[in-house]
Order: sequence, then C-alpha cells, then structure tokens
Amino acid sequence: MKDDVQWNLIACGRSGDAFTRFHLFIMLFLLVSAIGSFRVFAAEDLSYHTYDTMLSELRRLDKAHSKTGKLHDLGVSSDGRTRVWAFKISDNVEKEEDEPNVLLTGGVHGNEPVASEMALFTIQRLLSEDSHRTLIDKTQIWVIPILNPAGHAANNSHCNANRVDLNRNFPADWTNDNLDGIEIEIQNLVKNFHLRHDHVVAGIDLHTYGQAYLLPWAYTHKKPADWDAMKGLADRMAKTSGYRVLQLTEYLGRTVPRGGADYQYGRYGTFCYGLELGTSHAPPAGQLGHICRKNLPGIMIMMNRVHTSTLTGHVTRNGKPAAAVVDVDGIDKPANLRTPYMSDATFGRYYRILLPGTYRVRFTLEGKKMVKKNVIIVDNRQTVLDIEFP
Ligand SMILES: [Zn+2]
Repeated sequence: MKDDVQWNLIACGRSGDAFTRFHLFIMLFLLVSAIGSFRVFAAEDLSYHTYDTMLSELRRLDKAHSKTGKLHDLGVSSDGRTRVWAFKISDNVEKEEDEPNVLLTGGVHGNEPVASEMALFTIQRLLSEDSHRTLIDKTQIWVIPILNPAGHAANNSHCNANRVDLNRNFPADWTNDNLDGIEIEIQNLVKNFHLRHDHVVAGIDLHTYGQAYLLPWAYTHKKPADWDAMKGLADRMAKTSGYRVLQLTEYLGRTVPRGGADYQYGRYGTFCYGLELGTSHAPPAGQLGHICRKNLPGIMIMMNRVHTSTLTGHVTRNGKPAAAVVDVDGIDKPANLRTPYMSDATFGRYYRILLPGTYRVRFTLEGKKMVKKNVIIVDNRQTVLDIEFP
C-alpha cells in the first residue's frame, strides 16, 4: 500500500497534471494524519506526575478503595517538605495480618521518573482489575512510588537534597539496626517500614534504564545462598518482557556497597531484584503506557511467587508463636552472607521460597533446641510444615 502511494506520487509528479497532484496530496495528507492521530491516541494514555500530582492520585486511590488500599506516611525527606509515602493493598487493609508481604519501590533515583510511574501504574491495576483479587486476599502488597521525593521534586535529581545517592546509603552491617550516619529517607524506610513488617518475601526496586532484572549481590561477586531459586524467579519474570537477567556486579561491572537490594536480601532474606526499565531515563510520555504494560506481568509474577513452590508454616513453643532460625540444608551454610532466616515472634510464621525438590530443614530455637524435618516442595502450591517445640 505504501509503495503504491509513493509510486503514484512520483508518477503524478512526472505527469505534471496539477489537479491529480493536488488530489493525491490531500489523500496522502489525510492518510498520514489518520495514522498519526491513532498513534497519539494509543500511546499517550499515561503522563508523568510531579510529586504533588502523584500524592493527589495516591490520596484519591486511598479514598476510592478504602477497604483494600491505604496510604501510609513513612516520614519527611531531606528537603524538609516532601515525604515518603507507602501504599498498602490487601484485604483487611487496616490490619497487620498473618500474610506474606511483597514490596515494590520506585524513584530512589529522582532522575528516573519512569520507575515512579511504573509503581503507580501497578497500584492502579491491582485496585481496578478483578483478576488480582485472590492475590490481594492472601498477600500484603506494599508500593513506595517515590523513595527519593526530594530528588524527584527538585527537577529530577539522581541524589537527595544532601547530594547523597540513597541507593548507596543503606546500612552495611546487617547484624544490628544501627542507623547512625544514614540519610533521613533510608532511616525512615528502615524504622517505619522494614522493622515493622515481618516477611517481605519478595520485592522489586524499579530503576531506569537497561531492560534487565538484576540480582544481589552488588557488594561482592559471590552468589547469594538462594541463587537457584532467586535466578529461577528472575528468569520467569524476564521471560514476560524479553529483558536480560544478570547479577548486579555483572551489570555494573564492579562491586558497589550499601545498595537497597543487597540490604533487603542481606538483612531480611527478601528475594529483592533491581528492574531497569526501558532504554532511557525519561522517555517521551507517549512511551510510558507501553513500558508499564510490558513490565506489569513480571511484577505480578514476583507478587504471586510466595504462593507457589514455597515452604511455610508456624513455629510454636508451648502453643505460643516462637522465633526460630529456619535453615535449609544445601542452601544455608555457616558462612552465609545474609543474616539467618527466622520465623517471626508475632505469629511464628516463616516462609522459604525454594525450587521444587526434596529438602532437609532445620529449626533452631535460641541456639540450642533443634528439630529436623524432610520436606517435598512442589511447583504449584505452598508446602505447609508446622513445628511445635515442647
Ligand atoms: Zn537508578
């Protein structure tokens, strides 16, 4: 069709017939306009938010979905004005339930606004599409669209108001929760989110750009203890978008200390990934819809992962919830780089995301009482194993 039009135009030009030339010019003009306006209509359905318009939209969603969505204030940022906001999506959203948490963060780098738009898009889809209902009923989903609001508000600055790269500012020592010398945004994130919610089992930290899923570690070239299951999930997510899967050190070409994904996995055992969206930091708004729609399926796989091929259960002592170390033979070793994985004191709940197979699991209470069990993990559901210490 295109060739025909071009050929006709050329022929028309050679003919020297003014009427025909004009006629074809108008037809071509109308055709190009029609294609152009269709493209604009199809692609420009999303637009960039400022800090203020993002906050208005989060407040609107909180009001419109009062049973399943709740906006939480995590505290002020380094500019003294803007704040870090977390949006929770779950049934019984007002309560902290005995359910796994998942976390999606965006905008730790203020010059990567696509990451914040992807986070907001995910909230909107979760709340508006019935297909996510089962996930919402049995999961506590947390989304922090702008982790560095000072950078986002100050005309797209990579760093916060103190010129600190927040993704190089997480605690380096995972054996305690000392926050001395840490920027206010990360202090608030740790105090008001991480230390208040047990079992953030999986997460994605959104960035631009590079079209890649990135796995810990960033601070060392060594592989994480859970590498096989972590890589398995990354491969499944990446398959939906055609993105690459790499370890952070491989992607960065060097080791980098105190990153957010390392902190989440190292301190809490969260299967946390970096996701580098798209091919530029701030593509035209017309490309936002395409990027968000392309990457939502991978994010949903992450959020649903804990409900399949996972060992879970409660640890109790004398019928009361007990915090015990949960080690899996062949994965957890004495020289593990992350802190030991534990059941929580509130419910006694634990989760271990594993590949299908047979495992020997060891539960240790207060460093002395020990129970060992064999378990079979299958692909399409959780394996439940409750442990009762006398
Ligand atoms: Zn980034």
